[in-house]
Amino acid sequence: MVNEASRIFRGSDKAEAARRAHEASLSAPRRRERVEADWLRELCLRAGADDVGFVEIGRAGLDGENDNARRLFPAVKALICLVGISNREAIRSTSRATANSAWHRTGDKLGTAAARVCEQLAEAGIRAVSTNIGFPMDMQAPPGQVSWAIAHKIVAVEAGMGHMGVNRNVIHPKFGNFVLLETVLVDVEIDAYNQPLDYNPCLGCNLCVAACPVGAISNVGDFDFFACLGHNYREFPFSATDWVDAVAAGDASAYRAKFREGETLSMLQSLAFEPTYKAAYCMAVCPAGEDVIGPYLADKARYRDDVLLPLRRHPEPVYVQSGSHAEKTALRNPAKQVRYLDFKPDVSTVANFALGLRHMFTSSGPLPDGLRVAFRFPDGTLLARVENGRLTTGPVDESPVDATVVCDALDYIKILHRPIAGRPAYTAQGNHTVDGDPSAFQSLLACLS
Ligand code: SF4
Repeated sequence: MVNEASRIFRGSDKAEAARRAHEASLSAPRRRERVEADWLRELCLRAGADDVGFVEIGRAGLDGENDNARRLFPAVKALICLVGISNREAIRSTSRATANSAWHRTGDKLGTAAARVCEQLAEAGIRAVSTNIGFPMDMQAPPGQVSWAIAHKIVAVEAGMGHMGVNRNVIHPKFGNFVLLETVLVDVEIDAYNQPLDYNPCLGCNLCVAACPVGAISNVGDFDFFACLGHNYREFPFSATDWVDAVAAGDASAYRAKFREGETLSMLQSLAFEPTYKAAYCMAVCPAGEDVIGPYLADKARYRDDVLLPLRRHPEPVYVQSGSHAEKTALRNPAKQVRYLDFKPDVSTVANFALGLRHMFTSSGPLPDGLRVAFRFPDGTLLARVENGRLTTGPVDESPVDATVVCDALDYIKILHRPIAGRPAYTAQGNHTVDGDPSAFQSLLACLS
């Protein structure tokens, strides 16, 4: 039986015939094969871009971005690179909240400009697609396919909008690296295309190398992608999965061993508002670009004092993998609090316990300098030392210790779990003993947060 309510309304025979006649009378869509670069450039600038360049699809310099562009928009014939200027004074502030607000507002401005460009091109009979600014968004891309829509930096270089400097940011010849980039794909050819600059605005000053808190940038070697990802992108989706695991595990005491209250609030802030870049100091300190370089050329020492040193001396957590070059770099700067991405608060091994001690150590209170505490666990031993404002861990040696903590329980990592109001602390349950001075062990625990 036919359900009358589910039938699609088709109207009367007369109205249907009128619709068909009207559709048959419509003219074929306007089709443009080619547009003038001057007209298109003016349209983009009026839409809100600060600079613009054009690249034809198929150019060898685009490399794999040709395929990415065709995947996004099979009809693509050319790419438009849009440039938006960011507030460099805000980005140089030691307040990352201030810097992030500047980036996000420039992203909004540039995204709105790209949408306007697409609208106005549609009115002119040109099909256009804008992508997304900043970072990969296709998190469920099929195997073998990249998670970013298109690599804006590669398009920007080909469009003559600058070259990548030592810091791997595109440095615009006028605005320096204080820019965001967006790409618009169009289904028409353009009558004049831009070419890469024949020089690089990067001075080779290496201020970016000095500024990076995790040593991701080198003036001689490769860029350390994972060091940058772990710290600068700590609160972005691809770096925050350990936070989700810790929340999902449902053990509040273990969670507090991994994440301090400020880190929880910062993560929530990134989720509630917009993701927060933790540093990007390589961008902040870069003096390159016609509009930027004046103060650096006038007085390099003063520029270093005014721009580089406040960021280097800014006290803040820095996120690293243990044993990495990033860890070594971060440990050399006493202003930075090293935090370990790979510490697992639910895994009882001697190595993970040692990592947990280093992860949780804080030098903000009075420190028991010279303290030595040994641990004896079912699967091994460990020595913790506090010296010169640092906590170090290593094998137990012959030297005397202030206390030896003996723990037979297999879940001894819980010694590091933080007390939760209303619940007994693990250390009060009596499953470990202390030989020597019990207050030495308590002093060590007091250094952890
Ligand atoms: S800070 Fe100096 S070396 Fe680094 S990218 Fe900028 S100009 Fe080049």
